[in-house]
Amino acid sequence: MNFRDFKLDPQLLEGLDAMGFEKPTPIQEKAIPIILENKNLIACAQTGTGKTAAFILPVLHKLLQHKNKGVNTLVLAPTRELAMQIDQQIEGFSYFTNATSIAVYGGGDGQTFVAQQRALRSGADIVIATPGRLISFLGSKKIDLSNLEHLIMDEADRMLDMGFYDDIMKIISQIPKKRQNLLFSATMPPNIRKLAKNIMEDYEEISIAISKPAEGIVQQAYLAYDTQKDQLLGGILKNKDFKSIIIFASTKEKVKNLSRRLKNSGEEVRQFHSDLDQKEREQLMQKFKGKQVRILVGTDILSRGIDVEGIDLVVNYDVPPDPEDYVHRIGRTARAESTGTAITFINDKDIKRFKEIEGLIEKEVPKISLPDHLGEGPAYVFSSHKGRSSGQGRGGRSKNERKSNHQSKHRNRSSSNQKSRPGRKDRRS
Ligand code: ADP
Ligand code: MG
Repeated sequence: MNFRDFKLDPQLLEGLDAMGFEKPTPIQEKAIPIILENKNLIACAQTGTGKTAAFILPVLHKLLQHKNKGVNTLVLAPTRELAMQIDQQIEGFSYFTNATSIAVYGGGDGQTFVAQQRALRSGADIVIATPGRLISFLGSKKIDLSNLEHLIMDEADRMLDMGFYDDIMKIISQIPKKRQNLLFSATMPPNIRKLAKNIMEDYEEISIAISKPAEGIVQQAYLAYDTQKDQLLGGILKNKDFKSIIIFASTKEKVKNLSRRLKNSGEEVRQFHSDLDQKEREQLMQKFKGKQVRILVGTDILSRGIDVEGIDLVVNYDVPPDPEDYVHRIGRTARAESTGTAITFINDKDIKRFKEIEGLIEKEVPKISLPDHLGEGPAYVFSSHKGRSSGQGRGGRSKNERKSNHQSKHRNRSSSNQKSRPGRKDRRS
């Protein structure tokens, strides 16, 4: 497959050549024909898979076929950085065309506002905007969207996480009803479909497949501060039903430190990370497979490819940085129709990341209450307030204080396995 197969405008193909794009990525291959057919679309694919070109190329193509007056396309993006990035990509693709674009976002000084305002007045085919700033332009009638044909939401999951739902709905109430809606996202949490159902009657949906965890894995999670994790782990390892265990930590240093602490507490453990050469790794895996070693502590290099039958327990001592790694890590257990348990420790800073994982696997992982003697862990709410982690809930407060804490209530709710609330509205651009 080649970009020429989409029969895109020759000027766009020229731009693609200049940018060194040869073959479309899988998401581009699927999304571009649907968009060219004027259908609504929700598209989900991981970061770095080329989503920007997937929505911009067909929209530019249509725009070049018939140029209308005023703004033709609105792209909503969660942050100023992303808005600028999309604008730059559009400039690249449209270099050999007469299409124009402008990015409007907050955060600058008064001058930026005036400059954006002036640019808007002189007109642009494509406006890329953060929701907050767009609303202020709409409010002061500085932007006319009455001829809009395409509404694109990029990183829709992130916009919802950041609390832009109401802003998005407000913007939508002020643009033409007859338009094409394109919703792009790295993950597909349930609130994305809810948004989609609210703003469009029907739509196509494409999702670039990612590996899903096997059915046989029992997934559980604990909300625990770093200071609570060792004791929590110690308790879990006492269960002698777990005969073959892998514990993941995200860095080599963490693996080394954790192994040392486990050894000091009397556990028989071995470490697995990139300092070991190939031969050492193989010997260690032989011992682990032969059940001479009960516990392996390792980084994510342990998570890819190794095939050991009969691992009963995988512990994620921390939440993996990349959601796909979660699937790889827990996939070490429950191979080939056996069953296994995967337990993840989520500290106060990893909550957002774990929610991303739940989005990816399209499943809420049950949160187990900490054993009483460990006290209370963090609440399962994501907040981007910078000040939040500074001491709050670190065990320094009395029980009454905790009880009166609004967020603890949410935690109780989510640990009784109900849906937790979506992200809070607290960041603005
Ligand atoms: P996403 O939005 O999915 O995270 P981007 O649209 O930002 O991904 O694209 C990631 C990178 O891949 C960008 O640098 C982009 O220029 C490049 N890219 C996208 N599609 C192609 C392609 N078909 N061929 C070559 N490079 C591409
Ligand atoms: Mg993107």
